[in-house]
Amino acid sequence: MCIQRSLFALRNRPQSPPLEPGELLLLQLVKSDAMRLGLLDARINYAIVFDEIERDYDGTLSQHYWPNEGRKWDWIVRGSASVPTIPFSLEQLRLSRDYGGQDNPRYIDSVDEQMILPHVLWALASKPNPQLQRTPTRMIAEIFGKERALGAIFNHDRLELLDPRPPHQVITTRYERNPMLGESLKSYYSHRCQVCGHEFRDMFDLDYAEAHHIHRLGDGGPDVSSNIVVLCPNHHRIIHASNARFDADSLAFEYPNGLHESLILPDHLALSRDRGPAPRVLQQPLQLAAETKGQYQTE
Ligand SMILES: [Zn+2]
Ligand SMILES: [Zn+2]
Repeated sequence: MCIQRSLFALRNRPQSPPLEPGELLLLQLVKSDAMRLGLLDARINYAIVFDEIERDYDGTLSQHYWPNEGRKWDWIVRGSASVPTIPFSLEQLRLSRDYGGQDNPRYIDSVDEQMILPHVLWALASKPNPQLQRTPTRMIAEIFGKERALGAIFNHDRLELLDPRPPHQVITTRYERNPMLGESLKSYYSHRCQVCGHEFRDMFDLDYAEAHHIHRLGDGGPDVSSNIVVLCPNHHRIIHASNARFDADSLAFEYPNGLHESLILPDHLALSRDRGPAPRVLQQPLQLAAETKGQYQTE
């Protein structure tokens, strides 16, 4: 599995059904590994838009993509995009049938598809496509709970951090920033300022907050959650106007006059600081669990 390049490896070529370009493949962590890692309720974290499957005759591809595995797979599946999901497991949903099994892909019945698709976060994909997303990004925490919303944000971060950006790219459109990442975090904090806790909903009946990048993207700051703080407009303004710097160790803004303001809502930055958005899930063998019928465009 090589999620940043939308690749994974199989022993056998999927026969029935065969894979069609544009189909969305859900990737599921093998059950025994999920159990060992305490991820039984989070076996799926990514989907891949299927593009092509290629035979690895002599092991060259396996060696190239997985140099540390020391083994060969017969089939390499390439996707055109990686799509993070809300962490979930098919077993948790009340689906019409059991999609478990090794290696062979299964079609998802359309009745089950309706329950699965809201978990797929197209707006946070390696090639964002917000129009395809069923769940409004600004409501993901409300709908799936804060913990799963943050899990999805960290899934996005893994893709972003692992994706090596080519230094010169002329024709391809590259999202300078993905506004949906900020929206996801605002949702996580219920649109409260992480510094002062201010929210507008009570008085104005409106959710409003701003996403501040700690290191400006223009200066090479990464577009990942550990580089974003959710702020009220007052704090956002004064932080820029005063050139306050953010201290990632104490999780506090430090103003030039000596004032320290610690975050009262530090969750995602505290987690990133303490354990980082570690790509542990990606290093585990994943099995191809299921696919949905191809109603998606890949571009
Ligand atoms: Zn504030
Ligand atoms: Zn800002």
